[in-house]
Amino acid sequence: MITGHCQLNKHLFILSITDSPLCRVCMEADETPTHVLLRCRGVAEQRAAYLGSPASLPEALGDLGGLLSLWSELGWLE
Ligand SMILES: [Zn+2]
Repeated sequence: MITGHCQLNKHLFILSITDSPLCRVCMEADETPTHVLLRCRGVAEQRAAYLGSPASLPEALGDLGGLLSLWSELGWLE
């Protein structure tokens, strides 16, 4: 019983994290496409590797292959 209760709490905790509008990488700003693709410092390395340095959101979104690779790298496609 006690173990089950703890697992439920843990589950709820994870759910509440997922529901947060904050960026799950840096937790410094809302997780919007603009933030993640242009501004987030938490994914800067991966972003540079797959997308280079997009100057605008349309430019970043134009590289669908790079985008999918980045999302996959971050584990966000699962
Ligand atoms: Zn971020």
